[in-house]
Amino acid sequence: RTVYVNGEYLPENEAKISIFDRGFLMADGVYEVTSVLDGKLIDFDGHAARLERSLGELDMASPVTAEELLAIHRELVARNGIDEGMVYLQITRGAPGDRDFVFPDPEETPSSIVLFTQDKPGLADNPVAKKGIRIISIDDIRWGRRDIKTVQLLYPSMGKMMARKAGADDAWMVEDGFVTEGTSNNAYIVKGNRIITRGLSNDILHGITRAAVLRFAREAQMEVEERNFTIEEAREADEAFVTSASTFVMPVVEIDGTPLGGGVPGRVAPRLREIYLEESRKAAI
Ligand code: PLP
Repeated sequence: RTVYVNGEYLPENEAKISIFDRGFLMADGVYEVTSVLDGKLIDFDGHAARLERSLGELDMASPVTAEELLAIHRELVARNGIDEGMVYLQITRGAPGDRDFVFPDPEETPSSIVLFTQDKPGLADNPVAKKGIRIISIDDIRWGRRDIKTVQLLYPSMGKMMARKAGADDAWMVEDGFVTEGTSNNAYIVKGNRIITRGLSNDILHGITRAAVLRFAREAQMEVEERNFTIEEAREADEAFVTSASTFVMPVVEIDGTPLGGGVPGRVAPRLREIYLEESRKAAI
């Protein structure tokens, strides 16, 4: 696979990052994951805009312009022959000469940028979406700026492992009695024709897929309620689902051992998945 590191396209085994890189030492960096369908980028502008925001919140500057970013994504997709898959992008606060908590002067220490592709044939036609996934609930013990897409992913990784140990597929995190989001996705429940999902704040990542799916849902005359919900309310809902760039819309068929809608995907989540895939393919660049 060809990857991109700080201005160069290289075979993955020749790519190098300093051991002093603050991404490596301190998780001081941000990332984005953009899906590729039909060799084209899905929701690229949304991901680029959120990247700018994440960088701004952390007083970091992008080492490349928005145009260059798009060109690098496209070049990697082409060089690696990706038809369906993802492009991973990470920008960290670079590598000062030593380890220090204080941010280095950006004039002396440029940020590091790395991109690579992940080939996932069958991403859109994922058989898991037909069955749905089972989730458990866990405490949300992450930091208070979950709106910034940092590479600090240890707790989400632990959450996925807790789910796996419990025989489930993923976990929803709960804070002060309310669901925040999934370990790597936004969380929704469905009651009748109403889609309920937590509103935007610093408590959750502002999902790019979330924004698109809510827009499509409203356009399809579904009701959208952005408000907090509990696990108890979720267990009594008609349906549930998650959204993310890599899973699009994924039905949830079991929460903490309670099956929803007889343990099979309902009507709303599969329809939203279909609409999302169709519309975002049309708008892909
Ligand atoms: N919430 C969290 C914690 C995530 O890590 C992600 C994606 O990685 C999402 C939500 C979904 O965001 P997006 O739709 O932009 O992929």
